[in-house]
Amino acid sequence: YGDYNQKIDYVFKVVLIGDSAVGKSQLLARFARNEFSVDSKATIGVEFQTKTLSIDHKTVKAQIWDTAGQERYRAVTSAYYRGAVGAMLVFDMTKRQSFDHMARWLEELRGHADKNIVVMLIGNKCDLRSLRAVPTEDAQEFAQKENVFFMETSALESTNVETAFFTVLTEIYRIIS
Ligand code: GDP
Ligand code: MG
Repeated sequence: YGDYNQKIDYVFKVVLIGDSAVGKSQLLARFARNEFSVDSKATIGVEFQTKTLSIDHKTVKAQIWDTAGQERYRAVTSAYYRGAVGAMLVFDMTKRQSFDHMARWLEELRGHADKNIVVMLIGNKCDLRSLRAVPTEDAQEFAQKENVFFMETSALESTNVETAFFTVLTEIYRIIS
């Protein structure tokens, strides 16, 4: 950590997409800095964060892009998707609508990104058990049909966040190596 002589073998760009307020910025904060905040307005304006990790004895720098609030205006541009080799398609499992919009986000992603992009569907906020509005099976079925990975996460409780990112990064590595 902090070693500027560290040799980076790969840089993987991964984009976060999904409706506003599903927890994209907090998933990124949890993964990159192991932080969480209830009020995450502070993350507006941040383009991406990086995290360097080791996969198969190689040093991989994950460059994770956040929408910086632009998804509110559906203004996520093609520059956002350019060069992305992975995508986290995030919905809030307590908001059915955010799951229903996943097909549209996936369509937009597939229209802009490389066809070999590795995609992970994420049902976030699994800590809010009593408020669940999307059954696991519904999301699983969608993921299977669309041939994407699927995981339920909590940025708040740190559940499956590392695993979700690591799964995507490992799959990207497997494809390109
Ligand atoms: P974004 O608009 O998709 O980037 O969503 P944010 O990351 O800004 O999160 C929106 C709100 O949901 C904030 O109040 C977060 O604190 C909250 N939030 C994000 N992830 C979780 C989670 O896993 N569990 C719970 N309970 N709240 C979360
Ligand atoms: Mg955000």
